[in-house]
Amino acid sequence: MRVTVGAATDIGQVRDGNEDSYLLLDPLYAVADGMGGHLGGEVASNLALDTIRERFEAGDRSLVDHVALANRVVFERSQRDRDVRGMGTTLTAALVEGARVRLVHVGDSRAYLLRDGRLSIVTKDHTVVAKMVEEGEISAAEAETHPHRNIVTRVVGVESTVEADEEILDVRDGDRLLLCSDGLSGMVPHDDIAEVLRTERDPQAAVDALVRAANAAGGVDNITAVLLEFADDGPADDRAAVAATEGPPTVRRRTAEHPMAAPQLAAAPGGEPDGSASASWRAEAGAQRPLPSRSRPSAASGARRAVIGLGVTLALFVLGFVGLRVYLDSQWYVGISNGRVAIFRGVPTEVAGFELNSLVVETQIPAAEATSLEIYRETLPEGITATDRADAESIVDGIERDVDQARPDRT
Ligand code: MG
Repeated sequence: MRVTVGAATDIGQVRDGNEDSYLLLDPLYAVADGMGGHLGGEVASNLALDTIRERFEAGDRSLVDHVALANRVVFERSQRDRDVRGMGTTLTAALVEGARVRLVHVGDSRAYLLRDGRLSIVTKDHTVVAKMVEEGEISAAEAETHPHRNIVTRVVGVESTVEADEEILDVRDGDRLLLCSDGLSGMVPHDDIAEVLRTERDPQAAVDALVRAANAAGGVDNITAVLLEFADDGPADDRAAVAATEGPPTVRRRTAEHPMAAPQLAAAPGGEPDGSASASWRAEAGAQRPLPSRSRPSAASGARRAVIGLGVTLALFVLGFVGLRVYLDSQWYVGISNGRVAIFRGVPTEVAGFELNSLVVETQIPAAEATSLEIYRETLPEGITATDRADAESIVDGIERDVDQARPDRT
């Protein structure tokens, strides 16, 4: 197969730097989207791709091993260097082997295939919402706009090892394979990406048009697109002929299917100093108890939820995130536990049966008294987000005050 390539990366409209990187090293192509805030993201994506480049140029073509090595290199650097601690990167790499493409993938960057005018997603997002779709908790359409769609569950360089998806894709004359970061896939609707890939004949013109479309849609993240267009070399290409006679499925996956690891939240009921003991609810700061199962609203409910989600999403954009656990450990909200107002760490959502939160403090305030007040009727059951523990405590103080004032026997 002959490959014609177009590639573009752009800072977008909002970010201060470009943490995306791409690699064009015919026949190896890759996109990496770094994360980890100030410096970290840029270092992670560059370091990962440089590591792969070095191994490849040294003649070693075992792409999965390169990704494992890149993971180790990024992880060890982040352990050594305070400035980039916790950094990580997505990685979606394509190695063209005749009429086949070997795809290795970690994170929420994507590979798309345009064939016969139809666009399909070849890779699987390693995100919380992808898991929710898989479990039937939300639809694919809901996932596109879900507030937690940016929370990744697998990242290169955040832990000492990483599991990569590997797939073999058979390609045909006229196919177009797009590798891109979520700054494109998250900003430009699927049908619009398809339209650009169908109509822009030149691969470079196509990726430039995609970057323009993402910027026009707001450009809230860095945007990277690498487009490979495949054309037959003619009858001399016997590898293509072999592939055609074998009649294999279009995509073969070789992925060890792990359930997503249950987030190891720091469940610390009673384990942290409570600061002041002046408020009555703090006296009840929980004894050790297992996480209660809580009733919760459906994933897509209400304007208030959208507002909370927007806050979470903005927080992600501002802070950059370095993996699910680190992210969840920094989130706080006030909700309901065992019929009482309570403080939680994490986000008020569950994925695949795993609650993405843990109870920190259960107060004495009856939730029913709070939800009888208009301002808490919907907000409390859905979870009122707080910036930190102190903020969560002040929200509880506010609820206690409001509940007290509403009591008819108040003196
Ligand atoms: Mg991104």
